[in-house]
Amino acid sequence: MSTIEDRVAGALLGVHVGDALGAGCEFMSPAQVQEHFPLGVWQITGGGAFDWEPGAATDDTSLTKAVLDAYLESPDDAVRSAADHMLAWMHTGPPDVGMATHIGLSRYEDSGDPAQAGAGHGQAGNGSLMRTIPVGLARADKRRRHQEAVAISAITHDDARCTGACVAYCDLVDDLVDGISPEEAVDKAISHEWLDEFSPHVRRALVFGKDLAPESLHLASPEIIPAMEHGPYGGGGYVLDALTIAVGALLTPDPFEDVLPLVVQLGGDADTNGAIAGGLLGARDGIGAIPDEWLEPLEHGAHFRDAVPALVALRSGG
Ligand SMILES: [Mg+2]
Repeated sequence: MSTIEDRVAGALLGVHVGDALGAGCEFMSPAQVQEHFPLGVWQITGGGAFDWEPGAATDDTSLTKAVLDAYLESPDDAVRSAADHMLAWMHTGPPDVGMATHIGLSRYEDSGDPAQAGAGHGQAGNGSLMRTIPVGLARADKRRRHQEAVAISAITHDDARCTGACVAYCDLVDDLVDGISPEEAVDKAISHEWLDEFSPHVRRALVFGKDLAPESLHLASPEIIPAMEHGPYGGGGYVLDALTIAVGALLTPDPFEDVLPLVVQLGGDADTNGAIAGGLLGARDGIGAIPDEWLEPLEHGAHFRDAVPALVALRSGG
């Protein structure tokens, strides 16, 4: 049985591992993934569209670290601090800044106000969902968790599908870290009336995820995910596809190391889908379930592990 520290560590490192495992097959079709990795994606190889070093932090992990560092350094001003850390990351010139992230952070730079940023309605990519997990880990108080999940998403992604997905995801993470079963956590999230404040599509994405698990995830085809091929972000990158896939993964009752490859083998935005699903799987199973050979090469692995006591302390402080 894992401890709360194990599950907080598993959640953070799960994002990093999912990002690293998926980086080698980002933007591939499932058929291309199969061609390059005929035995499946079982190793962190690096490479991919941006020729990453094995274990390198792509935008998913780098922006998760930005939000994490905000909670470590300025927990009472986490939203502004997250915006500052994200902007500092963008200024380092990374090769993989998403469109809404670029627009939102540029607006933050101009306005100086995280509430006067955001790429606007209609920008519903997965770029805020992929970095939201520290909010779910740091905040056990539901009201505060919801407020900060929305505000940190809205720095770049203020569309109600994105803010709602972040709130739902952080609730799932909070419940999993508390030891609540995946089934109960998902059912609670689906039945929350607060979901109506955001977009009915968020609830539908959670329900689709429940339908996806566990058998369909093994089929490893984007055709089973309603919007993934023909939706607004055909080929991947739509926030609610990422949420659906992550819930499907969470409810697939195989070990962490067997489920995460099923996610990244879907191709498309494989590193981000891997990061988002990896966070839930790590919160479910704890860090002890993540293979050592996947943890070893991670760029920020030591930093993420070192953050665990502070996050657990923040949780108990409300
Ligand atoms: Mg990425």
